[in-house]
Amino acid sequence: MPRGLLTIDLGAIVRNWRKLCELHPSGAVAGVVKANAYGLGAVQVAAALRDAGCRHFFVAQPIEGAWLRKHLGHGPMIAVLGGGVAGLERRRLTPVLNSLEELRAHRGPAILQVDTGMSRLGLDAAELDSLARDPSPFEGVELLYVMTHLACADEPGHPLNAVQADRFAEACLKLPRARRSFANSSGIFLGGRYASDLARPGCALYGINPTPGRPNPMEPVVRLEVPVLQLRMIAAGQTVGYGGSWMAARPTRIATIAAGYADGLPRAIDGRAKGMIHGRPVPMVGRVSMDLITFDVTEVPEAAAGDMVELIGPAQDADALARICGTIGYEILTSLGNRYERRYLPA
Ligand SMILES: *Cc1c(COP(=O)(O)O)cnc(C)c1O
Repeated sequence: MPRGLLTIDLGAIVRNWRKLCELHPSGAVAGVVKANAYGLGAVQVAAALRDAGCRHFFVAQPIEGAWLRKHLGHGPMIAVLGGGVAGLERRRLTPVLNSLEELRAHRGPAILQVDTGMSRLGLDAAELDSLARDPSPFEGVELLYVMTHLACADEPGHPLNAVQADRFAEACLKLPRARRSFANSSGIFLGGRYASDLARPGCALYGINPTPGRPNPMEPVVRLEVPVLQLRMIAAGQTVGYGGSWMAARPTRIATIAAGYADGLPRAIDGRAKGMIHGRPVPMVGRVSMDLITFDVTEVPEAAAGDMVELIGPAQDADALARICGTIGYEILTSLGNRYERRYLPA
């Protein structure tokens, strides 16, 4: 059976990283490669970034860090954002300490996270005051960075951004002197106050627009093409798919293609996606089946079984597909699944 093809442009990821480096002259730029590099392959992405000079990586969970360390070798820092600190040192992973309790229990290099508005992970105001009075929990800890995470960086006008910058500056005054890590992808585009010693972009590396509502400054990274399994003519009045939700208004040529829920196409697409076949747009019709979706290819008579329908590409990027489904590009990329053939364009 022909398979869908997911093409991931490692050169574009590296160029996106270099662009972010230029936009963040105050300090280094890490690569956030959690969730398998947002679905695109943590080992391939991190190796390409490492070869381009990236020295800092962030993952969400220890298991992701262990896997990455095995493939990246000794050099780069691999920090684990959450999920506990036990057993990290043995794997040469850098913990992000998220509470006073974790700080007290730790010896060696670490990043300390303070909460400035996410209310998710990191030291709260009471813990910071306690450390200002009694810094003894830092004994034996090599504090590599103090970090915090922005809640609304993709909305430049949101008042919480400035509040978080103020709180972060205040928090750092209560802590031993250390380098700081602040901006995520969108934060880099907020400019001066959000610059630090280490930015932590994820989505922008992968071509997701870090400046929603404005033109995407990043280079596209992902192309998804899915093969046509079968074509058929249906008469006016015939319906397509579960629930008979779409009815042909005219004699219609239907192409059935091999992708469904497990391949990252959510039910919410419900006949609203666009496909490109032979360079021409064709509308999706009917609902997503478990493993199949259907397009009206009446206008493209040369369409044949085995042809590829492009679902993510220049005509419809991950952000555009996400808007159709009422979600964001992050969820589209991280849901792409394991059934596609993955082709990596070298950096
Ligand atoms: C996921 C994450 C990032 C990267 O965020 P993007 O919006 O993808 O750039 C940075 N820092 C932390 C703490 C994160 O959890």
